Amino acid sequence: MIARAGVIGWPVGHSLSPHIHRFWLAELGIQGRYEAVVVPPDWLADAIDRFRTGEWRGFNVTVPHKESIIPLLDCLNPLAQAIGAVNTVVAIGEGRFEGRNSDAPGFLASLSAVSAIETDRPAVLLGAGGAARAILAALNSVGISEIRIANRDRVRAEILASSFPAKVWDWADRGLMLDDAGLLINATSLGMVGQPQLELDLIRLPTRAIVTDIVYRPLATDLLLRAQERGNSVVDGLGMLLHQAVEGFSAWFGATPKVTQELRAHVLAAIAHAG
Ligand code: NDP
Repeated sequence: MIARAGVIGWPVGHSLSPHIHRFWLAELGIQGRYEAVVVPPDWLADAIDRFRTGEWRGFNVTVPHKESIIPLLDCLNPLAQAIGAVNTVVAIGEGRFEGRNSDAPGFLASLSAVSAIETDRPAVLLGAGGAARAILAALNSVGISEIRIANRDRVRAEILASSFPAKVWDWADRGLMLDDAGLLINATSLGMVGQPQLELDLIRLPTRAIVTDIVYRPLATDLLLRAQERGNSVVDGLGMLLHQAVEGFSAWFGATPKVTQELRAHVLAAIAHAG
């Protein structure tokens, strides 16, 4: 039986996951299939029941199902439990599904591929949406001494800080948060194509700090360009997207794929083609 996996979402046509997983299937010579399946919210429960056949090894989950899928699964791993969102589902036998969240390890792997994380210096996290929540769990898991978080809607940041240890700052003070920081992360959608730029004065940011932006359309965001110009090391958002896919692929197809320059080029071409 050919192993099947895929991505469910609504819409799902924009997903880059098929490009990533099909690249690895071809590269590793694995007879598997990876499909994009449109699943509107009303069909979610039915769709999952249909996937409970031996053929489906699991699937990725994208908007708007990352949280609503949780009660429909049989169990969650501790990270997905802590983050409260699932982006990877793995069949664990007898038609049962485990929910996982690979955004946190994907973020760390992407960062580590470029530079060691300095845990004894503050990390600054901008944003309090779904991606910020996974990143906060990741920062916490590596024992960063101080995590500062700011979000336009301060209440959302406070909700995050009630689950993970972090100091909440006002969005208006985001420039002041950069004093002494070892890591700056933009986890808002600001800077993405069609969105306003992130307005942030970097003057207080030490030049040895690493700056990462999880926005990957465009790859070189205004934040990353400005940071690079003043001498900071920068990490773009594509790395997180590629590294988060490793966990699902390994679980479904039984081989650990690599994030290479060839994969990056392949996915960048898909992004350029999508416009
Ligand atoms: P959410 O919708 O959950 O969160 C959006 C975040 O952006 C919130 O913090 C929101 O603040 C903030 N924001 C939006 N507009 C503004 C604005 N005008 N001014 C200030 N803040 C604003 O999205 P996600 O967390 O899922 O995704 C965020 C970004 O990260 C997206 O661009 C997404 O494409 C990217 N992403 C990248 C991944 C990767 O692998 N590289 C993985 C997941 C996401 P507020 O709460 O105040 O609305």
